[in-house]
Amino acid sequence: MTFGRWAALEEDALEQGIRRRYRDLLRRVEEACLRSGRHPREVRVVAVSKNRTLREIEAAWRAGMREFGENRAQELAEKLGGAPPAISWHFIGHLQTNKVKIATGKVALIHSVDSLRLAEAIGREASRQGIVQEVLLQLNISEEPTKHGFRPEELEEALLNMKDIRGIRVRGLMTMAALTGDEGEIRRCFRTLRERRDEAVRRFPGLSLDLLSMGMSNDFEIAVEEGANLLRIGTAIFQEGA
Ligand SMILES: *Cc1c(COP(=O)(O)O)cnc(C)c1O
Repeated sequence: MTFGRWAALEEDALEQGIRRRYRDLLRRVEEACLRSGRHPREVRVVAVSKNRTLREIEAAWRAGMREFGENRAQELAEKLGGAPPAISWHFIGHLQTNKVKIATGKVALIHSVDSLRLAEAIGREASRQGIVQEVLLQLNISEEPTKHGFRPEELEEALLNMKDIRGIRVRGLMTMAALTGDEGEIRRCFRTLRERRDEAVRRFPGLSLDLLSMGMSNDFEIAVEEGANLLRIGTAIFQEGA
């Protein structure tokens, strides 16, 4: 067999694997929706492509995925040029204020605003570009010291400070659940995020805080049951045997 044919077969195997795992994922999302009286169309999957190659991203694109998430500004910058141009990008990782230029205006949504300073920097850059950048505020509900994000009790003040910043529009909240096998604890994190969002909607009726970004490969079914409408899924899509 020539190298060209061998490479083509390998490509097929890559794409078929991604296609199969994506289909399984959507089926599980659908089942979680049905269990909790939700419509599957309410839930979007962001394919987390960090550490994945352009070949893998292209295969996922061909399998039907349209929204992709990166967690490092440098990696996002490298991929923007080479990946299918119609991808809707999301930024999901900690963003340093000196890197806001890389993501602002390039991504549909920044999930990880974790300080007023960062919100202001994004707002300044977006205003400079003449656009409005949609963002989520990240909450650190599990209060693990290694995690970024506002503590739940800081949310109201953060929203008060951010609602009038030009150049950004806050669309909702994001969290990462506690790193634990304790399903009750994970569920508590997601439920708290939804409750905080519901409180914020009552407190700030002028904001449309409709997005809840929560749930990853290991816990997305619980997140769907607790009201997630944006799932951030990497391993379950891209990794064989996951
Ligand atoms: C890596 C990452 C994910 C995806 O995690 P998986 O377990 O691979 O699905 C989701 N959200 C954030 C912020 C991440 O960094």
